[in-house]
Amino acid sequence: MAFEGLSEKLNNVFKKLKSRGKLTESDVKEAMREVRLALLEADVSYKVVKDFVKSVTERAVGEEVLASLTPAQQVIKIVNEELVSLMGNSNARINMASKPPTVIMMCGLQGSGKTTHAAKLAKLLKKEGHRPLLAACDIYRPAAINQLQVVGGKADVKVFEMGQTDPVVIAKKALSYAKDYGHDILIIDTAGRLHIDEALMDELVNIKKETQPDEIMLVVDAMTGQDAVNVAKAFDDAVGITGVLMSKLDSDTRGGAALSVLSVTGKPIKFVGMGEKLDDFEQFHPERMASRILGMGDVLTLIEKAENVMTQKDAEKLTKKFKENKFDMDDLLDQMKQIKRMGSMKSILSMLPGVGDKIKEADIDEGQLGRIEAMITSMTKEERSKPSIINPSRKKRIANGSGTKVEDVNRLLKQFDQMQKVMKQFTGKNNKMSLRKARK
Ligand code: GDP
Repeated sequence: MAFEGLSEKLNNVFKKLKSRGKLTESDVKEAMREVRLALLEADVSYKVVKDFVKSVTERAVGEEVLASLTPAQQVIKIVNEELVSLMGNSNARINMASKPPTVIMMCGLQGSGKTTHAAKLAKLLKKEGHRPLLAACDIYRPAAINQLQVVGGKADVKVFEMGQTDPVVIAKKALSYAKDYGHDILIIDTAGRLHIDEALMDELVNIKKETQPDEIMLVVDAMTGQDAVNVAKAFDDAVGITGVLMSKLDSDTRGGAALSVLSVTGKPIKFVGMGEKLDDFEQFHPERMASRILGMGDVLTLIEKAENVMTQKDAEKLTKKFKENKFDMDDLLDQMKQIKRMGSMKSILSMLPGVGDKIKEADIDEGQLGRIEAMITSMTKEERSKPSIINPSRKKRIANGSGTKVEDVNRLLKQFDQMQKVMKQFTGKNNKMSLRKARK
């Protein structure tokens, strides 16, 4: 997970500050020297660090802060606010055309995650009620068209392609197609190169001329650190970008690029990619990212993710099942699938306050959900709705069918049994009363 090192170092600085009680100007300055070092080590660009530390220090050594009852907390608050403003204060949205279709041109270096994120974006917009169309304009990389078709298929979004035709022509035709067939958003996947070169930029400029994009979204790979920022600057100078999509923030990057992009290019990060799956994708919220960096967790993102995978109707149906004691293995399987759709266990847990920095040492068994899924799918319909009939020979069959051991099946059955007991308690008569009382 990005920012781990930075989080840890900043937390150490704050811990030291907190242990002091009253602070002097030199305490703050000493702390800021350490903050500066932590940011530089996280690969934040030099000028950004310099300006950042300067503004935090100016605010933090003021009379009001030092004389306050909780000076250390005040300093942390200032660091938090300055981090947020470094990343853009408000949540930047996609620029939508006043008259559809909105054209979004995706650009970036080869391997930055352009094709993957074209599909992620399409999926997200579709969920928001749009009818996006993807256009395959990366005609140079072998298999790029096919790759877009595969990810487009997963997102259930139509892909417009014309094989190896001139990309400018494809983009133009895709735009007419979108208009003719009622697609309100066109997402153009353009070609990348290993390095920035003139031919690439010319092609992008020509596509831009033909399609007049409302959004030119540059995909940059967070793992490339400072280079990501240089790439952003080069694309902006040559093509003029309107937003940045930072991919691979799930990887073990130091994360500094995310803190530098806006200052260096003046263009905000609008989205972040956090994994290879289509749902590992988020709108970029500067304030949430800042609290993640400061180890305050990111509960809002988690709630949003949960809401995305579970509708109000699903929740009501589930509650009804709990109440009627009809929650069975099939429902459990459904729940597991929904959790999986929220991303990896590690990524979910790292958003919880206080967990973020510990997660890296924890041994999380990502395969556990998969094994449970395999065991449940190896059960018959009858067994799933009435697990009590699962006798030793059935257990053996389920274990064989799912590639697990009988002990695993036993554990699952025991956990399920406990779960049902807990639910009974919550939905039992007495408890309903006490819940009602508690609410009053
Ligand atoms: P393109 O050449 O820019 O179109 O890049 P691709 O979309 O083909 O992505 C290159 C590689 O990076 C693929 O293996 C993707 O699965 C992977 N990738 C893309 N985005 C992410 C991300 O956010 N996190 C991780 N871990 N991998 C990603």
